[in-house]
Amino acid sequence: MPNKTKSKGTQELSYQVVLSYKVSHNYPLKTFLIECKDKLNECIDMIWNNIEYTKKDKPKLPKSNEFKRNLRNKLLENWSYASHYIDGIIKTSYSILQSWASNYKRGYRTKTKPVVERLFVRVKTTLIKYDKERAEIRITIKPRKEYLTLNIKNEWFFDKVKDLTIGEIILKENEAFLTFKDNLNYSDKDIIVGVDSNLKSLDLFHPIEGWIRIDLTELHRLKEVYDKKIDGLKKLLKKCPLRVLRKINRLFERRRNRVKDFLHKLTTQLSRLFPDAIFVFEDLNKRRMYKNKHFNRRIDRANWNGIIEKISYKAVVILVNPAYTSTTCPICGSRMESQEGQVVCYNCSNSFNRQVVGCFNIFKRGLGAIKRFMGGSGVTTTGAEVSAKGLMTPNPNVVYYVDLNGKYLKCI
Ligand SMILES: [Zn+2]
Repeated sequence: MPNKTKSKGTQELSYQVVLSYKVSHNYPLKTFLIECKDKLNECIDMIWNNIEYTKKDKPKLPKSNEFKRNLRNKLLENWSYASHYIDGIIKTSYSILQSWASNYKRGYRTKTKPVVERLFVRVKTTLIKYDKERAEIRITIKPRKEYLTLNIKNEWFFDKVKDLTIGEIILKENEAFLTFKDNLNYSDKDIIVGVDSNLKSLDLFHPIEGWIRIDLTELHRLKEVYDKKIDGLKKLLKKCPLRVLRKINRLFERRRNRVKDFLHKLTTQLSRLFPDAIFVFEDLNKRRMYKNKHFNRRIDRANWNGIIEKISYKAVVILVNPAYTSTTCPICGSRMESQEGQVVCYNCSNSFNRQVVGCFNIFKRGLGAIKRFMGGSGVTTTGAEVSAKGLMTPNPNVVYYVDLNGKYLKCI
């Protein structure tokens, strides 16, 4: 997710955004990563054994400098790799236990120690050298002995990141997640896109193109196919519970992977279609969603968070308040009423398509949010200029389809 930090004291507000990209590598890292994982679990162990509980059973992690110094020294024993990795491991352990503690306080977790199984390590920037000329990233594994070099010249995102500062890297067995810090100047990005998430489409409002629809029926169809298969198997559950349950779980897993793959392609293609845009989404409150009774709907809603999360690795995303986005009149601001798929304003007697109103209002709220960040300046497109464009049309100006084989959104 983009990290926004306000630089205080200066007149100009700049926001720092972290962009992250995945690259693959084939360095033999397994032994190193297993040692990292063992150290991480050892570190969690040591912090865990020193957690104190208050009278109200609230866990408090040990935070004294003395404890941290001892912890570091202890972990450095039998460690042949760069010592900075240990610092990253300590940081990771604390964040794992901090999230355990806050969930425990709210009653979401029991008093069982978290155990890490995944093979990964955080690489601090002190271990990374980024040669912008040669597009090479060098990671120190063992100082003066072992290095890992990644060349990103041919990666699709290289043009976007070649002038940025490199941040932390997460190393996995065959892939690396690179992060780059971008000091965001909103006036560079004069295009913003409002995105309204609907069940079968993403509806976008773009200041030049107007109303754009990204068709998601394929995603819907894919889910339906699996849901039907799963429902069919559920009927057989009484006859042969274990075997059928195993089959159902396998189908759920496959469904999840197919959906994930689709969302990954969708967000990559979206960020390529609008390379310099800021995407504005509704801030859909998760907690409120869990109260939703309908299971299927819940899964579908959960995907919107997946879309937002995935696209925020590839482009700048801001979230706005979702209240009344589809019922506020884009012309006069009055509350509108639904009528057969249309929304009607009784104040200025205009009627619009519900979906275009939704994405337009999200777009407008995004503009407002950016202007607040920038203190009244920033994005050049004004609300008044764009309000006339495409709003009265009954259908989207362009419909795009996610291309499951290609790199770009298909326009049909
Ligand atoms: Zn109106």
